[in-house]
Amino acid sequence: MAEPTKNESDADLRARLTPEQYEVTQHKDTERPFTGEYWNHFDPGQYRCIVCGELLFDSSSKFDAGCGWPSFNEAKEGAIDTHEDRSHGMVRDEIVCHKCGAHLGHVFPDGPTPTGLRYCVNSASIKFQK
Ligand code: FE
Repeated sequence: MAEPTKNESDADLRARLTPEQYEVTQHKDTERPFTGEYWNHFDPGQYRCIVCGELLFDSSSKFDAGCGWPSFNEAKEGAIDTHEDRSHGMVRDEIVCHKCGAHLGHVFPDGPTPTGLRYCVNSASIKFQK
């Protein structure tokens, strides 16, 4: 489980975030596909961590993976950590915010070039900024 950011208690986080944002970022929940704010959103701008505000992705790396979640080809260097996730009978690479530990989603090796990666991210974990 992610630790809350240094100056914000779990209760503060729960009060500030929507229930879905809280469950996804703090308890590794997954929003239902095709329901989030950004799966079909392709405006130019940047995506920041909903918990700590750290810059995570640029819209230039966003692509339509057809999976119902925001998908990115690459992340801002150093902004994301990966952890092996063996839940739900699968072996996946969980992605979390390097700065605050918020759960973001998973990364898969089936993305387009140049990286060949697909960062599959919950809309609930990120905030778009023009
Ligand atoms: Fe964060």
